[in-house]
Amino acid sequence: MPREFRQATSITITASTSACAYRCSYCQLVDIAVSRIPIDRYVRVIERFLEYKESKRLADFEIGHWLGNAFNFDEYEYGKVAEISHKLGDSYENICMGGVPHQSPEKLRKWLAFRQKVGAKNIIVAFLGHGEVHDQWNRKAGNFAFQMEAQKVANDLGMGLIQRTFLTNSTLPLVERWLDLLDELGGNVVQRVAYLLFYSGLARKFEHERVTRETLDRQSDRVKAIYRDDQNRWKSEKDWAEFLRTDKEYESGYGDLVLKLDDSNIDQIESMSCEEIIADLTQRTKAAYAAVPSREELCEKYANQTSEKLYMFTWDMECLWIDRFLQQNPIVFERHLTHFGR
Ligand code: SF4
Repeated sequence: MPREFRQATSITITASTSACAYRCSYCQLVDIAVSRIPIDRYVRVIERFLEYKESKRLADFEIGHWLGNAFNFDEYEYGKVAEISHKLGDSYENICMGGVPHQSPEKLRKWLAFRQKVGAKNIIVAFLGHGEVHDQWNRKAGNFAFQMEAQKVANDLGMGLIQRTFLTNSTLPLVERWLDLLDELGGNVVQRVAYLLFYSGLARKFEHERVTRETLDRQSDRVKAIYRDDQNRWKSEKDWAEFLRTDKEYESGYGDLVLKLDDSNIDQIESMSCEEIIADLTQRTKAAYAAVPSREELCEKYANQTSEKLYMFTWDMECLWIDRFLQQNPIVFERHLTHFGR
C-alpha cells in the first residue's frame, strides 16, 4: 500500500537557533546546525499560525514548535520561548542541561534562577556511564562533574531533578555506580529513568551498543527498577517486523507538516500566508512520501528478521530500514518533511 499523506492535521515549526555547546558522539538530534534567525522572527511565525487557527476556527489543527534540546538561550530569548510555549499549552518547565556551557556554580545559579522565575521547575541531566566514560561519550572533559554540580545548584534553588541514562552494552555495567552517586547527591528527584538510544542523528553509529531483552533482563533489580515504564512495548527488530506486518492503524495516513525555518527561507516564509505555507508543505510532503517504499516493502526487504536488538518506537525501526534502502538506492527526497527525518 503506498503511503498516503492526507489533509494536514498539524504543523511543527522548528529552527536550530540554540547553539549547543557540545557535539556528543551519540547526539540524537538530526540537525544541530545553528541558524541566525532572531527569536522574535521565529516566535512571530508561530503567532501567525495561532492567529490563522483561531480565525479559521480550526480547533483540531495542532501547532507545535521545537528548538532542539540545547537550552543555551540568553534571558530575553528564553523568556520569549517560554511565553510562546505557554501559549501553545506547553508548560516548558524542564530545562535540559545537556547543551549548556560549563560555568561556575555562581553563574549557573543566576542562569537557572532566571529560568525558574519564568516558570522552569526541573532540570534534566542525561548520562552515559559516569566520570570519564560519560565525558568520552559527550566528548567534553569535565562534563560529568558539571552535570553533578548543576544538580547541586538546582537543589539549592528548590528545583526538581530529572535524571536519565541510556541503556547501552558498554555502559550498563556502570549503572549501579551511577545510581550510588546520584543517591549520595540526594535532592528532589522527580524522575530517574533509563531507556534505549533512539535510532536518530549520530546515535545511528552505535548499533553495536544496542541491547537485547536478554541483556536487560540480566541486570539487577535496582537497575531494572529504573527502566522506563513503557519498556514492555519495546521490541526487537524481529518482533517489530512481525508487528508492523499486521498493524494497520499506523499506516492509515499521515497529516503532520514540518516547517523548518533557517536563514535561507525565513524571508520567503514571512512573505507567504499560512494557507500558502500549508499548501506548499503539503505538496512537498506528499512528493517526499511518494518517493520512498511503503512500510510493507521496507519491512519485507530491509528488516533483519532475526535481529534481537531492541527499539522503542515504530519510527526507530522505519528510520533504520529507510537508511538500508538508501544505501542501495541513493535517491534524494525531502526527508526532514517526513517521519524519517526525526
Ligand atoms: S548536549 Fe544534547 S544536543 Fe548537545 S550535542 Fe549533546 S546530545 Fe546533542
